[in-house]
Amino acid sequence: MTALEQSRQLVTEIPGPRSRELAGRRTENVARGVSSVMPVYCRRAGGGIVEDVDGNRLIDLGSGIAVTTIGNASPRVVDAVAAAVGEFTHTCFMVTPYEGYVAVCEHLNRLTPGNHPKRSALFNSGAEAVENAVKIARAHTGRQAVAAFDHAYHGRTNLTMALTAKSMPYKSGFGPFAPEVYRVPMSYPYRDGLTDPELAKNGALAAERAITVLDKQIGAANLAAVIIEPIQGEGGFIVPAPGFLPTLLAWCRDNGVVFIADEVQTGFARTGNMFACEDEGIEPDLIVTAKGIADGMPLAAVTGRADIMDAPHASGLGGTYGGNPVACAAALATIETLEMDGMLGRANEIWAIASERLNALAATDDRIGDVRGRGAMIAIELVRPGGSGAPDADLAKRVSTAAHAAGVIVLTCGTFGNILRLLPPLTISDDLLREGLDVLAGAFGES
Ligand SMILES: *Cc1c(COP(=O)(O)O)cnc(C)c1O
Repeated sequence: MTALEQSRQLVTEIPGPRSRELAGRRTENVARGVSSVMPVYCRRAGGGIVEDVDGNRLIDLGSGIAVTTIGNASPRVVDAVAAAVGEFTHTCFMVTPYEGYVAVCEHLNRLTPGNHPKRSALFNSGAEAVENAVKIARAHTGRQAVAAFDHAYHGRTNLTMALTAKSMPYKSGFGPFAPEVYRVPMSYPYRDGLTDPELAKNGALAAERAITVLDKQIGAANLAAVIIEPIQGEGGFIVPAPGFLPTLLAWCRDNGVVFIADEVQTGFARTGNMFACEDEGIEPDLIVTAKGIADGMPLAAVTGRADIMDAPHASGLGGTYGGNPVACAAALATIETLEMDGMLGRANEIWAIASERLNALAATDDRIGDVRGRGAMIAIELVRPGGSGAPDADLAKRVSTAAHAAGVIVLTCGTFGNILRLLPPLTISDDLLREGLDVLAGAFGES
């Protein structure tokens, strides 16, 4: 197969005839509840490009939602998967184990923050790993309550729906939800700053607001775990004010509460460090990973302090497919690629290019309330002009639709649906990234 050319090219309208034909088959056969951002069917992808079945080449500013961080079909991963799948596809680690699983756990224990003894366990999806982190925290503490934050996203299974904040589309109509899940206030500098500038910059103060709820409404003695995304993903790429995470962690330590960092979206070099927690030097008790871990092969993990991880009884954790050998081979190749190809710093280069361009755009367009993020996790919050900060979800939809039509994959997110988010693969070239940003800027002009 010829190499995938790294340029944007539209040879049909979007979606093209072949994609439209597949959309017809899909409507007849795929459940309506499963929907797609763009009605464009992929043929192949890599670098910074997704090529569709009509031969259109789109600039990828989504990475399949922060998954193909090292680039789609990354060469080491392709080779490792091909080799592994030819040896064995499955034995079930709970029946006859294999080295790949153990090796992935060794790497996770080494790469996650902190030099304390650690253990890991592998699962299939982010949501499944989050559920297991909660099981582990409950087994360790003998307590039941779990606290999650405003704007949180932790998945779509029953327990993780309860942990997730946003009703539509994730929860609406799907209750009843798991009990003993409590919601506490997040640090959201842009929105806090609309009414309280001090709260916006003082993370310790914002943490005190959350701690009051933990203390008074739940009670530390009942609380097994606090779970938080170090930078919230689906909720709007919300970067808490400095001091927020360390203050919360210190309170958890003082009260025997397990601090779980959900790094499913932020992990694996997405934000300029291997994990977003490293930015403030915090060492979570448990850290949940998935998305970027295996370049798209389904794999997830919980990693953390050995005494906490070893709390569940033997056979208390597991699953038929968890830590599948082919997915483990992909993870090992992904980690090797991140470390050997010097990709860790690439997210900061992407941030430098994108934030400069987007801040320049924001200076001329008062519908952009905030440009934020870290590394290759970049958000633009759209609001009605005039300083009220009123969210403008329609504008986010119009801009993203215009970008899609021009051949750029861009996603939206946020509790209010008013945020454009960019998650380019680290393998995108500077030129393609700039072109994608130019298209996005043009989309603002048309919208
Ligand atoms: C995507 C995501 C999840 C859920 O992962 P799945 O693999 O979709 O189950 C959990 N937490 C965060 C922060 C996520 O971004």
